Amino acid sequence: LFVCFEGGDGAGKSTQARLLTEVLEQRGREVVVTRQPGGTPLGTQIRELVLHGDHVAARAEALLFAADKAHHVDQLIRPALAAGQVVITDRYVDSSITYQGAGRELGRDEITALQHWAVGGLLPDLTIVLDVSPEVGRERRGDEHDRLESEADAFHAAVRRGYLELAAADPGRYLVLDATQTVERLHAAVVDGVDRVLAG
Ligand code: C5P
Repeated sequence: LFVCFEGGDGAGKSTQARLLTEVLEQRGREVVVTRQPGGTPLGTQIRELVLHGDHVAARAEALLFAADKAHHVDQLIRPALAAGQVVITDRYVDSSITYQGAGRELGRDEITALQHWAVGGLLPDLTIVLDVSPEVGRERRGDEHDRLESEADAFHAAVRRGYLELAAADPGRYLVLDATQTVERLHAAVVDGVDRVLAG
């Protein structure tokens, strides 16, 4: 089982990934929780470079995020799935499609093709989009942001639209949840969605 959490910054992805992990572990599943960028040592370096280093040109950034994914899938995600473990990732290809493709206007089709190539076509069984408006996201993030555009509502609005379009195009693989619900209600909806996938 391969589950991905997506959504704007401040949507609660890491909290929901942790809570889902607890439930699955209680059921006796082995769970690997990871994130992108940064799920491997190389990924951690890429994350530092892109998010905290000097300015990276938009196309170079897209390629670095793709490299992070290619390595992550090869080193961690595929081996874990092959060993029968559940993989839960905080962000995956859709973050790039929305942030680089929609948000930074690099061209969604090109970024989608690049991302799918990078991961060798491996897509999650379920992608859970935690949906928040740019305004709520901004409040939740407070002053913590990685980059300047984290503050721009228009950028986050484009990212959000990108997620909703991806979900609408492939409803069987996506679950869009209103992330302004309480953590508990959101968690219950997440578990529900995962159980539906497990029931096949
Ligand atoms: O959620 P997390 O803290 O891991 O994300 C860090 C930042 O990385 C996001 O705010 C987003 O700006 C950026 N990001 C991106 N493209 C990706 C993944 C993350 O722009 N593919």
